[in-house]
Amino acid sequence: MTAAWVLGDQLSRERGPLADDPDRVLFVEASDFARRRRYHPQKLTLVFAAMRNLADDLRADGVDVVYERADSFGDGLDAYFDAHPGDELVVQRPATHGAADRLRELVDARGGSLRVAENEQFLCSPAAFDEWVDDRDGDAYSHEAFYRWMRRETGYLTTDGDPEGGAWNYDDQNRETPPDDYESPALPDFEYGEHVPEVREWVAEEVDTWGDSEGFGWPVTREHAERALADFLENRLADFGPYEDAMFADDWHLDHSLLSAALNVGLLGPREVVEAAISEYRERDDVPLNSVEGFVRQIVGWREFVRHVYRREMPALADANQLGQSRDLPPLYWDSDATEMECVGSAIERVHDRGYTHHIERLMVLSNFALLYGASPQALNEWFYGGFVDAFHWVVTPNVVGMGSFGTAAFTTKPYAASANYVDRMSDFCAGCQYDPDSTTGANACPFNSLYWDFLTEHEDALRANHRMGLVYGHLDDKRDAGDLAAIRERADDVRSLAESEDL
Ligand code: SF4
Repeated sequence: MTAAWVLGDQLSRERGPLADDPDRVLFVEASDFARRRRYHPQKLTLVFAAMRNLADDLRADGVDVVYERADSFGDGLDAYFDAHPGDELVVQRPATHGAADRLRELVDARGGSLRVAENEQFLCSPAAFDEWVDDRDGDAYSHEAFYRWMRRETGYLTTDGDPEGGAWNYDDQNRETPPDDYESPALPDFEYGEHVPEVREWVAEEVDTWGDSEGFGWPVTREHAERALADFLENRLADFGPYEDAMFADDWHLDHSLLSAALNVGLLGPREVVEAAISEYRERDDVPLNSVEGFVRQIVGWREFVRHVYRREMPALADANQLGQSRDLPPLYWDSDATEMECVGSAIERVHDRGYTHHIERLMVLSNFALLYGASPQALNEWFYGGFVDAFHWVVTPNVVGMGSFGTAAFTTKPYAASANYVDRMSDFCAGCQYDPDSTTGANACPFNSLYWDFLTEHEDALRANHRMGLVYGHLDDKRDAGDLAAIRERADDVRSLAESEDL
């Protein structure tokens, strides 16, 4: 008999082996997965409750489901093959580097048979991406080039190969901040059955986690995920574009879709999500092109791009550290009370409370601070991997080690380093902060500023020759000529000491 082995990030009846009516379905809920790192409790609740719900749905439809709760995958497979010797298992190729080989070893060690099928949770196949890379004749990866190619390949928002509206992206229209009295639409509530409270209780009793287990609001069934998608399209897609980079002290989600967790565990597929967004745009007059294009780019472009860059660049990508940054993360990453920095404290609190912040808080606040502070890319990657509900190794590693930490130049051309100026422009945090975003030195100066100039000084040998850094190094030269760098270094040292002593 053939049995579909469904992993916790492949929870789809629409794609993969479950779509082929397998004779039997296997789930292995391995508790050692939960103990591998200090995960957010909501992440564990999401994955295990969603697995159990899918198993229930399949059973209700008469499917023969074997659900093994075990200490490890190996123990789960022992139990399975004891009861069903001779079955062939089929699993979608996991996106995590090396995972397919590990699963095969486990099955081989038990005398079983495993077929690894194509992973259908993405739009672009490995072969198609590799061919696209080959056609670039040695040019480095380029997200923009990949995205345009994907738009042409899929036909999404294109006419005869040209972009709808005349431009491939509308970023210049997507950097607005909402008015002070802006209220984004309320999020949908989901009714949870027995599995969410059960898993939450087990996690609280058995596992060392970081984060709040209450306030769980993530989709854990296909029906929840479909409703989350419909709610986003109806209520938030229209304003998503203009405000996608904004940060608001009183509103953690603004108009973001919050679909990344459902997509990354397989409850939604990228094709249906993108096509639904484009249909919504076509059917309504009030959804601007810059909103739907910005959303399509995140899924058709960036999500697919990082998946394949990860696939090709691992295992070196995970260890990449071209700037040689080696500090541990300061304690404030686990305790928002350890800092008075409004933007950083708020972002940490949001991760603690929900396992989520949107992409700009991830990149320009949480990663930016770690980059300027001098934290090792691997320490930051581990923190993101544990702390976010939507984090899986294939998505978090390129985003954090590559983009957030500039650990490699394989697919980013410059570090995403910014002073307080960026946060001040894109958020309302600075107005309520004890630090001054316009000062660089002195006890009240925003920590981002001295760290920013100190970072540029520290890594001058590596970064000055980068043509995209010419302007900022011109400003650094001005500061050097004015004799400001010693005071900046002193303030940056103070900032690092205060962060280490939980007093920043
Ligand atoms: S002043 Fe600095 S620390 Fe405070 S909110 Fe603004 S950028 Fe963040």
